Amino acid sequence: MEKIVFRHQEIETLPQPQLKELQRQKLQKAVEAALKTPFYKKRLNDAGIRDARDIQTEADFRKIPYTTKHDLREAFPYGMLAADKADVVRMHASSGTTGIPTVVYLTQADLDKAAELNARSCACTGSTKNDVFQNMMTYGLFTGGLMLHYGAERLGMMVIPSGSGNTKRQLQLMKDFRTTVVHATPSYLLHMYDVMKEEGFRPEDFALKKAYIGAEPHSEDIRKKIETLYGIDAYNSYGLSEMNGPGLAFECVCKNGMHLWEDSYIGEIIDPQTLEPLPDGERGELVLTILERNGMPILRYRTRDLTRFIPEPCPCGRTHRRLERMTGRSDDMLIINGVNVFPSQIEEVIMKMPEIGNNYLIRVQKQGSLDKLTVKVEVTASLFSDDSRDLEHIRRRIQSDLQAVVFIRPAVELHEPGALPVSQGKAVRVIDERKES
Ligand code: ADP
Ligand code: ZN
Repeated sequence: MEKIVFRHQEIETLPQPQLKELQRQKLQKAVEAALKTPFYKKRLNDAGIRDARDIQTEADFRKIPYTTKHDLREAFPYGMLAADKADVVRMHASSGTTGIPTVVYLTQADLDKAAELNARSCACTGSTKNDVFQNMMTYGLFTGGLMLHYGAERLGMMVIPSGSGNTKRQLQLMKDFRTTVVHATPSYLLHMYDVMKEEGFRPEDFALKKAYIGAEPHSEDIRKKIETLYGIDAYNSYGLSEMNGPGLAFECVCKNGMHLWEDSYIGEIIDPQTLEPLPDGERGELVLTILERNGMPILRYRTRDLTRFIPEPCPCGRTHRRLERMTGRSDDMLIINGVNVFPSQIEEVIMKMPEIGNNYLIRVQKQGSLDKLTVKVEVTASLFSDDSRDLEHIRRRIQSDLQAVVFIRPAVELHEPGALPVSQGKAVRVIDERKES
């Protein structure tokens, strides 16, 4: 394990009761700011909240209605802007995975705060000013690229703002500048490994030590695969544009869950059906409140992401509670012939098999009145050149292993390495053709 380094030890190790008190104080300011917006003024007044001082206890906090992605779209473009527009220095938008993008606004103070949290996140993985950081995330409206860029610079790393795509150039930059830390989606790193082999790069060409992987759900097996292929440590980073993107919850050197920076965010886990808060440690939907954003406060935002808090304290000494790896979004769930199937269950099965390559795709179609599930997987090059009986054997094994977990028998197709499409941003793992008809 790497040495434990704090960026701001006092805050990072503040005992929970004091963190809660800090949250309470900051929440008052957030509610005060929210009440300046037409959207929250109405929403909070309707719930009987007229003044920030009405929110004192946990019970008061729970009277605040949830905010949803739908609300953000309804308030488009400026219905949730709390600051004077002249004080806004930046806007960002979500990547629109599940519909029209949503917009957030930041003042200079908000941007500084976000940069600081990202610097803290980098430091918490043991990175220092001696590192060379290659940022392979998309720059632009997407928060993933710029926010971690600012954080890495603030920590003093040398930043290579390579952005996403152009894999050969990425590899060349990594080699020429002895990159030690990369930031990318896990699916992109798996793809890059294939290109690295094809292009004849050797492990000793690189000085890579770490990868920050985020922006899309991935299993523990994917992390392990990345770590083994490159011989590095991979750290999970979770963020969403509504909450300023990365720098929200990040893994420390213990690599067992992501510390949610509780001096800046309030996290709750709710039952997505009843909408009731769940006790610590139970799995459900993550709800987040951003405590310090003057440009655009968001209170009790339903992320749709499924996770839980790990109740045990982390050996690193940080007191901010850890979120377990996301198992997907509540709206990711596929209903196939009446059976609930999460893409993450499928990924978990196939990534456990050493014969499987680095990419897969789930396709759902209508066949008469029934749904048909097809799982396409890339197998390793060596397997493809082997006896076709071996291939058939693998195909059947994948099929029965999947059936044991998702309770329906999918069609399984094997493909050569590189045959399935690779996305430049977030991986597209599911194609549901039923929606189009
Ligand atoms: P969109 O909601 O349009 O995808 P964002 O770019 O803000 O827009 O993406 C945020 C979402 O990406 C999160 O709500 C979550 O579903 C997913 N995500 C981000 N980081 C991770 C991660 N480390 N693990 C799993 N999912 C993640
Ligand atoms: Zn820790």
